[in-house]
Amino acid sequence: MSTLQSFNARTGETFGEAVPANTSAELNAAIEKADAAFDHWQATDGAQRASFLNALATALEQDREKLVELADTETGLGLPRLNGELDRTAFQLRRFAHIAQSGGVFAFTDDPAVAGAPPAGHPAMMRVRMPLGPVAMFSASNFPFAFSVLGGDTASALAAGCSVVVKAHSGHLHTSARVYAAARQVITNLGLPEGLIQMVQGAGSQIGVALIQHPLIAAGAFTGSTRGGAALRDAARARPRPIPFYGELGSINPVVATPAALAKGGDALVQTLAGSITLGCGQFCTNPGLLVLQRSPESQAFVAALTQALQGIQPHAMLTKGMREALDVGTAKQLAAGAKALLNTPVSDICPKPFLAEVDAATFVANHQLQEEVFGPASLIVWTESVQQTLQVLHTVGGTLTVTLWGAEQDTPEIRQLVRGATAIAGRVLFAGVPTGVAVTAAQQHGGPWPSSTEPMTTSVGDAALDRFLRPVSLQDMPAWLVQRQGRPC
Ligand code: NAP
Repeated sequence: MSTLQSFNARTGETFGEAVPANTSAELNAAIEKADAAFDHWQATDGAQRASFLNALATALEQDREKLVELADTETGLGLPRLNGELDRTAFQLRRFAHIAQSGGVFAFTDDPAVAGAPPAGHPAMMRVRMPLGPVAMFSASNFPFAFSVLGGDTASALAAGCSVVVKAHSGHLHTSARVYAAARQVITNLGLPEGLIQMVQGAGSQIGVALIQHPLIAAGAFTGSTRGGAALRDAARARPRPIPFYGELGSINPVVATPAALAKGGDALVQTLAGSITLGCGQFCTNPGLLVLQRSPESQAFVAALTQALQGIQPHAMLTKGMREALDVGTAKQLAAGAKALLNTPVSDICPKPFLAEVDAATFVANHQLQEEVFGPASLIVWTESVQQTLQVLHTVGGTLTVTLWGAEQDTPEIRQLVRGATAIAGRVLFAGVPTGVAVTAAQQHGGPWPSSTEPMTTSVGDAALDRFLRPVSLQDMPAWLVQRQGRPC
């Protein structure tokens, strides 16, 4: 029997008991339970779904102290950040409870019959949306609550009427187990089917692939690296019957700033950007990994001040030893690919120093290595000579969760070009502030073109996350009883 071991993120020492990886028989049993629960859950109304989601939020809050302490040991992310993340996770659960209760999930388009010959004449039609079925959910390492067992994917899938099988992340096994235990208690208290939320653990390449390829699984929701997401997307596609796979992946999040904006922003902007690059030790999918600046005295002064500000920041421990090593490998590859270091302080500690390098646009465009995400407190400055070259850099990035544009206040042909260039490659374009911090709200779009996500038409954060788990069906010339039920057969 293979086992999984958790580690103290700060010390690298083993933490807690080793836990057994699930066998394939256990995985199959979990999926079968989720399938049985789906039958029940898809027939529930909004109030029932809301009461479950609200109870999950309360359960998280009631166990806050222990959960946050556990997550802090396993991830090293710190108590303030983890308390905030738990708040956000409870907020998401309650928000989807509200959406379910207010009927958004059951909205339909009614198209009464029109007499006469087609194309103007047509039969009575109703377009409804049906929950997909059991969803395979893959947790991320850097969000032990918000993109984990009871995170946004689980909340939105449950609100849509789906059951969920979570693949726990090996980086926070005990936190996941405790959140899962809290969820199971809620399920028992409310007398709901056990399979509504199931959790499995084991190597992604084994149990993860087996989960996404199980015939009873109807969709996958993933948050993690581009490489891991691509492997699971390919596994989902390779099934005899491929299924939707919603992968939220890595991103380099360009920040484009005009010289005037940098001059105007002054030291406040320097500090804000330095804070964003190092926030959470740079372990955010929205970390500003690329600064695209047009050469000018103002830009050069800004970069000098940024270098100094970063030098004064000591990031905390990285999530895992593997990630810490990957950061050094990533920055070394940037230097080998032609970038010049502005701030590079190699240390062997689990807490890295911030890294800043610069490169000219032509080298950036020509070298794929410079276009890859370096996960951690690292950023690359790309110097451009013109707006056209800035656009070329954005085009080369190709797909990203965010682009930040500082200095777009005036409506000019060049600014319009930049805005078009940004919207062409990003899910979210910011005109102020920094990309770290993703609001959970109605207009949020968290997901951009490849390689930042596998399905750029969808979002994993915000109200529209729910749409991923509902499939449209047109009901034509329905019998009266089904019309009365607004197209819902159960
Ligand atoms: P990860 O290494 O891709 O792991 C995520 C999950 O995928 C784990 O369960 C892992 O299983 C599994 N996995 C990895 N490679 C696999 C493979 N080849 N086949 C099957 N399963 C595989 O990512 P992470 O370390 O959790 O997170 C860091 C990355 O996530 C960063 O790139 C960050 O930018 C990105 N991220 C994106 C978002 C977003 O919303 N777009 C949010 C947060 C983080 P194991 O248990 O075997 O490792």
